[in-house]
Amino acid sequence: MLAAPIEYLKGVGPLRGDMLKKELNIFTFSDLLLHFPNRHIDKTKVSAIAEISPATEYIQVAGKLLQMTISGEKRSRRLTAILKDNTGILELTWFQGISWVQKSLTEGMQYLVFGRTGFFNGKPQIVHPEIEPYVPAKADGKQFLEPVYPTTEKLKVKSLNGRQIGKLTYTLLAQLKAEDIPENLPQYLVEKLRLMGRYEAYRNIHFPASPVLYERALQRLKFEELFIAQVRLNLVRLQRHNSSRGVVFEKVGDYFNTFYSKYLPFQLTGAQKRVLKEIRTDTGRGRQMNRLLQGDVGSGKTIVALLSMLLAADNGYQSCLMAPTEILAQQHYNGLSELLKEMPVEIALLTGSTKAAQRKKILKGLQEDTIHFVVGTHAVIEDTVQFKNLGLVIVDEQHRFGVAQRARLWEKAVIPPHVLVMTATPIPRTLAMTAYGDLDYSIMDELPPGRQPVTTVHRYETARANVMDFVKTEITKGRQAYFIYPLIEESEKLSYEDLMQGYEQVKSFFPDPPYRISMVHGRQPAEQKETNMQRFVTGDTQLMVSTTVIEVGVNVPNASVMVIESAEKFGLSQLHQLRGRVGRGSEKSFCILLTSVKASKDARERIKIMCATNDGFKIAEKDLELRGPGDIEGTRQSGALNFRIASIVNDKELLEKAKTEAEQLCSEDPELDMAKNLQLKIHLQSQGRKNAWSKIS
Ligand code: ADP
Ligand code: MG
Repeated sequence: MLAAPIEYLKGVGPLRGDMLKKELNIFTFSDLLLHFPNRHIDKTKVSAIAEISPATEYIQVAGKLLQMTISGEKRSRRLTAILKDNTGILELTWFQGISWVQKSLTEGMQYLVFGRTGFFNGKPQIVHPEIEPYVPAKADGKQFLEPVYPTTEKLKVKSLNGRQIGKLTYTLLAQLKAEDIPENLPQYLVEKLRLMGRYEAYRNIHFPASPVLYERALQRLKFEELFIAQVRLNLVRLQRHNSSRGVVFEKVGDYFNTFYSKYLPFQLTGAQKRVLKEIRTDTGRGRQMNRLLQGDVGSGKTIVALLSMLLAADNGYQSCLMAPTEILAQQHYNGLSELLKEMPVEIALLTGSTKAAQRKKILKGLQEDTIHFVVGTHAVIEDTVQFKNLGLVIVDEQHRFGVAQRARLWEKAVIPPHVLVMTATPIPRTLAMTAYGDLDYSIMDELPPGRQPVTTVHRYETARANVMDFVKTEITKGRQAYFIYPLIEESEKLSYEDLMQGYEQVKSFFPDPPYRISMVHGRQPAEQKETNMQRFVTGDTQLMVSTTVIEVGVNVPNASVMVIESAEKFGLSQLHQLRGRVGRGSEKSFCILLTSVKASKDARERIKIMCATNDGFKIAEKDLELRGPGDIEGTRQSGALNFRIASIVNDKELLEKAKTEAEQLCSEDPELDMAKNLQLKIHLQSQGRKNAWSKIS
C-alpha cells in the first residue's frame, strides 16, 4: 500500500505525479506520508488587522478583498489589493504569477490571508500572502489544525501550494489503516516512555486535533528516528565486538615498563591513565579495537599514543602513527625519537619527501620487522607499505581523515590491527553520538597540571600598531610569536598575496637584525617548510608568519603569543585549534584576534565565544549551534546525520534518551531474538538496504 507510486493516489495523476517527483522527491505514498507539514493553521484563530505592529511576524487575518490593481512596468510590475476588516486595512502585493493570482481572486469576497507582515510607507503589508476564500470556522469541536507543507513555486502554480498538498495527505490518511503503519518500537518502550502509537502519530503530525496532540506526535516520531539510528549504530558496534578478530596484546612488558618508570617525563593525568586502561582492555580480548579518542588541544594525546605503541611492541607487534601533514609527521617523529632515545626501539619516518634510497630501507625494515614504529603521512603509509606484523594503527587529527581511508589499513594484516583515532579538537557530544556511535570512544577532558589558560582578546585592525608593540615586549622577554593568515585554499592567489603583504608588514615592525622571521605556507616545497619550521622550533627565529598549515599538532612551548589576522574568516574549531599552539609552556600566553570593523554578526559571535572560554568541548557545542551539523568540518557525511525531523542541536534530551534505551536494548538482546523486540527487528529488516543490518542478518 505505502509503496504504491504517488500518481495512483486520488487527485494526483500522471502530471502532478511527475511534478511531485521532480520538485519534492515524492515518489510513493510513503514519501508523501513522510512529507511533514512545517506548520499548522488554526483557522479559528483570526487576528484583527489593527493588531499588526512592526513587531508582528506572521499573522492570519480575514476580510473583504478590494481594489485589485496592476501597476508598474516590467520588473516592478505588481498586483496590489486591499484587505479590509472591521478594524483596518492591509495591503497585499504580488510580484509573480500576477495574472494567475488576479484570475483566481474576486473583488468583494471574503478571504482568509496568512503571511509575513511588513511595513511599506508606514502601512502594513503582506507580500505574496497565502490566500483562500474565507468560511468562518464552526465551533463544533471537530475542527482540526490545517497543515501547511513545504512546497515550491512551480507546484504552487499547479494548485499544489502549502495548503493544497494537505488535500492529498488527507486522502492518503483516509485510506490508511492501522496495520499499514505498524508499531515498530517495542511495546514496553512505548509504554514506559508514554509515547504515542505510531499510526496515531502519523495521523496527528498531519492533522492534529489540538496543538498538544501535534506535539506528542512530533516527539514520538523524533524519538523513533533517533532511537532506530542508535540501535543500528549499537548493533554495528556489537557485531564488530563479537565477530571481528583482533590481535591480542596480552601482556605489559619491558618496553612499556622501562619507559614508564625511567623515561616518562611527567606524571600522567587521571584522564590519560583512564584512556590507557580502556585501550589495554580493548586490545587484550582478541577483538579488534576501534576507538575514537576525543581530547582537547593540549590534553596530551601523543603520550597516550606512544604508550599504546610500546604495549604493541611488548607483544611483538609493529605500530604505525599517521599524521595529516608532513610537518606534523616530522614533529611526531622528532618528539617520539627524543622520548625513546635511550630505548631499544627502532622508529622510522616515512613521508612524501623521504628519499628513494631511505624509503627502500624503511620498507625493507617494516617487512622484516626490524622497525617497530613508523610515523608518516597517511597517503604514504597507505599506498605500498607492507608490514610483517602490524598490530596497531593510530590516526592523529581525525578531522583530516576519511573513514574509508582508515579501513584500507586493515587490509595490511591477516588479522586487522587495532585502530585508535585521535581527534584534533573535540566534537560536540551529540554529534559524536550520532556520527561515530559505531566506534567506542574515550574522552580526555583534563589538561596536564600547571597550564595557564590563554588570554584571548579581540582587536580591530586599526589597532595593529599597539598589537605589534605588545608582541615586541613579549619577544624582548625571550618569547616567540605566531602571526597567522587565513589561506583557505592553498592555491588561492588572493590570500597568498595577503600573506606576502602581511609578511612585509611584520618585517617592517620587526627588522632583521635583531629580529628573525620564519615563514611557512602551503606553496613551499616540503623541505623549505620543514627548514623554516625547524628554525622556529629551535628558537633561531622569534617570529613565525604562516598560514593555517601549522594548525594541527605543532608544539613550540616557548611561543606565547599568537596574532590571528582576519580572524573573522576562520571557523570556531579552527580558531580553537590554532590557539592551541600557544599556552603549551609555563609562561602566560596570549591570543589576539584581529578583525576588520565590518565583521559580520556571526563572526562577532564566534570571536566573543573565543574570548570567553578556552574549553574545547564548550566551543564545539557552540560551533554546532551556530553552523548546524552539516557543516562541522571533517565529520562523516554519513546518513547518520540526515534526520528527517529530529535535530541533534535542538533535541539533545531526546537523543540522550534514545541512546540510553538503545544501548540497554542492544546489550540485553544483541541479536534481537526476544519476542518483545520482534516488531523492531521486522522494521529494521524491512529497511535493510539502507544500513548495516543487512550485513548482520
Ligand atoms: P595534544 O593532545 O594536543 O596532541 P600533546 O600530546 O601535543 O597534546 O601534548 C601537549 C603538551 O603537553 C606536550 O608538550 C606534552 O609533552 C605535554 N604533556 C602531555 N601530557 C602531560 C602530562 N601528563 N603532564 C605534563 N605535561 C604533559
Ligand atoms: Mg596532537
